[in-house]
Amino acid sequence: MRYTISFLLATCLVSAARADVPRVVTDFGPVQSLVQQVMGDLGTPVMLLSAGGDPHDFQLRPSQAATLAEADLIFWDGPELTPSLAEAIASLAETARSVALLHEGGGKVRTFADGEGIDPHAWLDPANAQAWLGTIAAELSARDPENSAAYAANAAAARAALAALDATLAAQLAPVRDKPFVVFHDALGYFADHYGLNVAGAVELGDASTPGAAQLSSLRALLADARAVCIFPEAGRDPKFIATVAEGSPVRIGAGQDVEAITLPPGPGLYAALLTGLADTLTACLSAD
Ligand SMILES: [Zn+2]
Repeated sequence: MRYTISFLLATCLVSAARADVPRVVTDFGPVQSLVQQVMGDLGTPVMLLSAGGDPHDFQLRPSQAATLAEADLIFWDGPELTPSLAEAIASLAETARSVALLHEGGGKVRTFADGEGIDPHAWLDPANAQAWLGTIAAELSARDPENSAAYAANAAAARAALAALDATLAAQLAPVRDKPFVVFHDALGYFADHYGLNVAGAVELGDASTPGAAQLSSLRALLADARAVCIFPEAGRDPKFIATVAEGSPVRIGAGQDVEAITLPPGPGLYAALLTGLADTLTACLSAD
């Protein structure tokens, strides 16, 4: 009988603790992955962007606005990545705490290569992700102090795993550090800064447009001037334009890069898969022959 009572008591305590776990909403895969690692089995953060969605083009649907309205805590990259989300989040300031990790996560912020504006792709610097994990744990603990030990332990484990991955990737990328390459959109700055890689430029063309002759020749000049070894298309986008740019040049076309993790299955493992995938596409092309 005593066993039963203490068992029931323990069950009640566990459900009481779980009942206080905040409802957490995130913007897209990389942030959801980091938050999921900190929440562990206490809960699953919702991801607003559906699989395959490009965060740059994100428009909030009514069902997603409803999900957002029920949140206690919102973790997202920031208004520079998803401007439409910024307005919706601002309107929820009374009911939910929101944390724009790009600005409030404690990591580094850089400007785009052309100097025009803040580059929102900050999740691609694993040092930023390390800082964000700590911020996420602190925010969850402030909202849910009963589970703060679990959040802190999960964040510490995630940071240790990420430090190990970072060391592996640094060793993998070291031999290709001086090889110039061109990317599709200017998204790799944080990753390149962290690992000391040589991004020569970005193609930066809107999805639907067809390259004009002037643009084509300036991109071909960029490849030649930079002596670019590789040019990388993007996962989930038509690589035809990249092939046109590369025509008649010795530049190699690498495998598609997925900087926004739109083709990766969501979950705690997504973040490591994202960094590993980027490092693998880079070394596979840049170190060939
Ligand atoms: Zn981007």
